[in-house]
Amino acid sequence: MAGLDQSIQFVKGVGPRRAKLLEKLGIKKIEDLLYHIPRQYRDRSQIKKINEVEPGLEITVAGVVKARDKIRTRSGRNIFKVAFSDETGIAYATWFDQPFIFQKFSIGQEVLVSGKISDKSWEQGKRVEFIHPNFELGGEGGLHSGRIVPLYPLTEGLNQNQFRRWVNSALEEYSEALREFLPEEILKENGWPEREKAIWEVHFPSNSEIRKKAFERLVFEELLLFQIKLAQKQSEKKQKPGYCHEASSSHTNRLMKSLPFALTSSQKRVWEEIKDDMEKPEPMSRLLQGDVGAGKTVIALLALLKTVENGWQGAFMAPTEILAEQHFYKMEPIFREFGLKTLLLTGSLSVRDKKRNYREISSGEADIIVGTHALIQEGVKFSDLAMVVIDEQHRFGVQQREALLSKGKTPDLLVMTATPIPRSLALTLYGDLEVSVIDELPTGRKPIITRARKTSARSNVYKFIREQVAKGRQAFIVCPLIQESEKLQLVAAEDMFRFLKQEIFPDLELMLIHGQVPAAQRAEAMKNFKDGKIDIMVSTTVIEVGVDIPNATIMLIEDAHRFGLSQLHQLRGRVGRGAEQSYCILMSDAEDELAKQRLNALVKNNDGFMLAEEDLRLRGAGDFFGTRQHGITPFRFADLVTHQKILRFARKKAGLYLQLIRESEKRFPGDIIR
Ligand code: ADP
Ligand code: MG
Repeated sequence: MAGLDQSIQFVKGVGPRRAKLLEKLGIKKIEDLLYHIPRQYRDRSQIKKINEVEPGLEITVAGVVKARDKIRTRSGRNIFKVAFSDETGIAYATWFDQPFIFQKFSIGQEVLVSGKISDKSWEQGKRVEFIHPNFELGGEGGLHSGRIVPLYPLTEGLNQNQFRRWVNSALEEYSEALREFLPEEILKENGWPEREKAIWEVHFPSNSEIRKKAFERLVFEELLLFQIKLAQKQSEKKQKPGYCHEASSSHTNRLMKSLPFALTSSQKRVWEEIKDDMEKPEPMSRLLQGDVGAGKTVIALLALLKTVENGWQGAFMAPTEILAEQHFYKMEPIFREFGLKTLLLTGSLSVRDKKRNYREISSGEADIIVGTHALIQEGVKFSDLAMVVIDEQHRFGVQQREALLSKGKTPDLLVMTATPIPRSLALTLYGDLEVSVIDELPTGRKPIITRARKTSARSNVYKFIREQVAKGRQAFIVCPLIQESEKLQLVAAEDMFRFLKQEIFPDLELMLIHGQVPAAQRAEAMKNFKDGKIDIMVSTTVIEVGVDIPNATIMLIEDAHRFGLSQLHQLRGRVGRGAEQSYCILMSDAEDELAKQRLNALVKNNDGFMLAEEDLRLRGAGDFFGTRQHGITPFRFADLVTHQKILRFARKKAGLYLQLIRESEKRFPGDIIR
């Protein structure tokens, strides 16, 4: 039987070129495609008769094509119309400027059309007309209409219908290879379908009840395997001795004295916890939580310094180049004072620099290495890696964390995040991870004032920014988020920049920064901004995490409703880092009640932990897209907030299975079992 770990390019209709696109979604093997689950569903299962149709709801109508027509208007638009009928009446579908659609229809063909009908046509004599509807021609087997239709998270260059066909082909050809491994009684007890059926139902549900059961089963499967793996990892870890750092504090004390501020008592407590861990013989695994701006970086610095004081190496991984660069430029001079060598390793280094850095890392010449994912490339070999720090850890997958850890023998691990994770979740997710919390902000910070504004207030907002700049402050302006397309995102940012530069602030220094700006130029821009040579930084979300410019006091976010709550909180955290009063302005014309409530939550709340809870409350417990979307967890199916019950069940069962394995190991010593 064909294997699930074959390359995706062998699925009918995919091929090597599209396989590259799919890779962007993390889909490489057939199995990845089958486990790429829909983001949501659209119920097109109710096929209506044409004479029952009413405006308002999304509906599906089945008919036969009676006529088709192509019109070119005087203004040069191409209009394409199809008339189709069932036994009760006639309906129309209209497309503008989509010449390729015309070829698809022929008279007499069966067609399924889904969408909302046009209110305008309806008012003009109850005419049933769909504008740009979804449609499916006879013979496509009812994949896109006449059923509950899956909608997938996709990337630029892919579309839903095409993707749906690939999933369908892959299921038809390979789903038999999805062997069941759960005991029958568990399935019976819970009314869960077998593995193969579950995957089918999640993609193409027969009805929403079965889909729910199928989904539950996959959640359980995922949590069970996770628990078992976690337990195995823990027992492996216990067997390996870690680095035992000496109880000397001369370097770290010196660093603390040289800081322009005193550590807060939270920071001090957290540092004691980490120090103790490091001095123990077992490898450390610690999660450092602290709201945006709480001062986590300095703790990482202390940990790295203590590591290299003992002659070993430390690595610091950040999710974006901007952030890695910022950390590097901050740390390098500090460590240089101690005679230590710090290196930067990112994807945009030249080949020559990269090679030199690789050499210095493997020879041990470099003491501290700051970088992005570039740190986990194969070519990177450490001479003696004893400490791994991961910043903004929620932006990394578990595999990436493991990949960096595996570059050393048993390095200590410190992961840092501003995304609050309730303790019970942290325990489940990380098991053996100890949690340290910085629960206060440095003194002297003024709470950020947050306001939601309509675009009609735009000129006032700009006036306000101008006043702040006149006082010597700086501002961030974040462009609208366009999730569907990086290209559009870029265009929007460039347009915004041009507008601001030409029309609004011609006399000020503005700078545009986005993911495509070459690294050297970007580093210089950030430096100029830091040095106060730039007044306003216009940017995409590349500045979302970590960026630290204490003199910036204004954060203006355009189309704020498009961002997630925690993302907005992160963006807001770019200001309010100095002693001056800071402001966050959320620009949005959203009318949607939920969107308004979310923005309001930000206006009222400066505390990340409370916001996270508010976010969960607003999204409701019935929403099965929760922690997964936040990227807190490595799961495809499970949401640790809404699936608490299944989680407890999985934990119990995992314990049982592990016990069985252990007992059988006692009976059959050696490696028979593994
Ligand atoms: P985060 O926890 O979000 O990573 P950072 O480590 O970037 O926060 O710190 C935010 C800012 O606060 C930095 O400019 C840092 O130098 C400063 N800072 C850190 N600790 C203190 C402190 N105890 N007192 C005053 N400022 C501090
Ligand atoms: Mg940080």
